[in-house]
Amino acid sequence: MIIKTATFSISAPYLSMCPATKEKEYAFIGRSNVGKSSLINFLTNHHGLAKVSTTPGKTQLINYFNINESWYLVDLPGYGFAKVSKTEREKFDKVIKTYIKNREQLQYVFLLIDARIPPQKIDLEFVNFLGENAIPFVLVFTKMDVSRKNETPKNIAAFKKELSKDWEELPPIFHTSSFNKTGKEEILAFIAANEKA
Ligand code: GDP
Repeated sequence: MIIKTATFSISAPYLSMCPATKEKEYAFIGRSNVGKSSLINFLTNHHGLAKVSTTPGKTQLINYFNINESWYLVDLPGYGFAKVSKTEREKFDKVIKTYIKNREQLQYVFLLIDARIPPQKIDLEFVNFLGENAIPFVLVFTKMDVSRKNETPKNIAAFKKELSKDWEELPPIFHTSSFNKTGKEEILAFIAANEKA
């Protein structure tokens, strides 16, 4: 798929403000600082579409980007930001989960996992939430550029091992680096195939 147009559509601070659009949606989510904004900008060829955060966890809005005037990329708030109060975190957790469970236009959740760090409990819990609710999702490992310690293969293997304790089958998995500009075609081809289906 070639992305010809990617435009910011609307920010919804509450569920009641989410637009009543009919187009299919693909939602991106992950821990704060996972590299979500960078990935969205990379996928859409649009440098400033999603804001690369200087203060992680600050923007807690559901952002809609219209792609090719045919589908929506939905930027869900990052979870797990330590400096947000527990009450705030619980409130946003509820908003996100309600959205994911009820949004009819939603085709897939793209759950972003930072390949630079070992498996995080909060990410594994999110996978379990998606699996238990039979939400179609894929995993996207981010920051897969070469690092000095070359820790990403080990972290990914450990993450898969954790998942296999609870799940027989793993979801589709993508590997990306917004820095090296890798992994985009695979993700866009996946979305294109679903758009045709
Ligand atoms: P968000 O909070 O999930 O939206 O993440 P951002 O896109 O704002 O990125 C968080 C941090 O990770 C920033 O310091 C980025 O420079 C860094 N980052 C994002 N993508 C990559 C990547 O592909 N490779 C590396 N090494 N770092 C990245």
